[in-house]
Amino acid sequence: MAFDSLTDKLQNVFKNLRSKGKLTEDDVKAALREVKLALLEADVNFRVVKQFVKDVQERAIGQDVMNGLNPGQMVIKIVNEEMVKLMGSETTELAYRPGQQITIVMMCGLQGAGKTTTTAKLAGKMKLKGKNPLLVACDVYRPAAVEQLKVNGEKQGVEVFSMGTGHSPVDIAKAAVEHANKNGNHVVILDTAGRLHVDETMMEELKAIKEQVDVAQTLLVVDAMTGQDAVNVASTFEEEIGIDGVMLTKLDGDTRGGAALSIRAVTGKPILFAGMGEKLSDLEQFYPERMASRILGMGDVLTLIEKAQDSIDEEKARDMEKRFKKAEFSFDDYLESMNQMKKLGGLSSVLSMMPGVNASQLGDIESAMDDKKMRRIEGIIYSMTPQERANPNILNPSRKQRIAKGAGVDIAEVNRLVKQFEQARKMMKQMPNMMGKRGRGRKGM
Ligand code: GDP
Repeated sequence: MAFDSLTDKLQNVFKNLRSKGKLTEDDVKAALREVKLALLEADVNFRVVKQFVKDVQERAIGQDVMNGLNPGQMVIKIVNEEMVKLMGSETTELAYRPGQQITIVMMCGLQGAGKTTTTAKLAGKMKLKGKNPLLVACDVYRPAAVEQLKVNGEKQGVEVFSMGTGHSPVDIAKAAVEHANKNGNHVVILDTAGRLHVDETMMEELKAIKEQVDVAQTLLVVDAMTGQDAVNVASTFEEEIGIDGVMLTKLDGDTRGGAALSIRAVTGKPILFAGMGEKLSDLEQFYPERMASRILGMGDVLTLIEKAQDSIDEEKARDMEKRFKKAEFSFDDYLESMNQMKKLGGLSSVLSMMPGVNASQLGDIESAMDDKKMRRIEGIIYSMTPQERANPNILNPSRKQRIAKGAGVDIAEVNRLVKQFEQARKMMKQMPNMMGKRGRGRKGM
């Protein structure tokens, strides 16, 4: 994911800081010079970096820190706190109109930023929260965009309102609101037209929609891969039409991540959601604290838990948990848990949110558990009879031989899998209650 290189660099700086007992002013300054370079290399806005380092330095060179018990740790804590502040401290929720009023959300952005995809992702999130959004195709220049929204809306089980490309976006938006009124949709999301560059016509069109329909939230979609360009686009939109927040896409990619750290500080507008992949479920609410934690290599276990809650069938999970505890965990469960892992974006995606796992380690794990190996394991399990899957204790050498033959692998591989499986089973028996109640402690969106 983004930030890998920034995280690695910051962790090196922190390692040096921790290894020192007492810190001198020069130690802190030297460390912060490294932090500064790392941030600049990650394409964080120059002015933002300057201010950030100044703020951290002012706090870190105080008496309390330098004379404290663990000055290195204190400096790291300050970097963390200032980074959270940089991204806005609080999580910004999407503001809905109260009561039965319709909340109109206008999505805007440049072509290719991921606007249409993000619009459908957002509708899916709202649906999960029990809302009934209406998606509206206001891009009258590209028939393909209308079609794309329809396809994605259908995938999300969300209604899409379109009038083709023969009407003005304002007229479409007005008709959509009327439709929503009749239809009982409390949220209307307008997918507007993007262009390759910021231009006057696009801005005029967006202004016209804002003037004539009661837009509650204007959300700008920007592509994290474009770094400081994304920040500039956000500034321009804020000046021209006024935005309420930013949806930062493609944060899963190999971006340096500077946009995430600069947007709020430069434009004053918060990031509401981050796009973490091409799948329609790959949208995460943006929590400055958790993001800072990820950037600093401290993991993001909370997001992982929420992802699991959203994508895992709870009944199955609970059932599985019961069997874990009774040591009835079978090879069918093993297959199921492999599927769950796939739904969470694969092992590496899960591990990237764990504290202390760095990018280089991830590479090793990824190759150890690549798709090919997963398929071999599946092959072995599918070569077992239902009885063998349900009750692995009956696996004797002749059964194992037959399974190996069926899966086209060496018997040693079957033995290895059975051994791993038994170890996993033992571990699970010892694990405490893992599956919390759905939704416990979750914030709204
Ligand atoms: P639009 O022109 O702004 O409407 O952009 P689209 O929604 O058509 O997206 C452009 C491309 O970006 C598509 O290939 C999307 O799948 C991809 N995309 C959108 N969001 C993300 C994201 O968060 N991560 C990744 N990896 N790709 C994304």
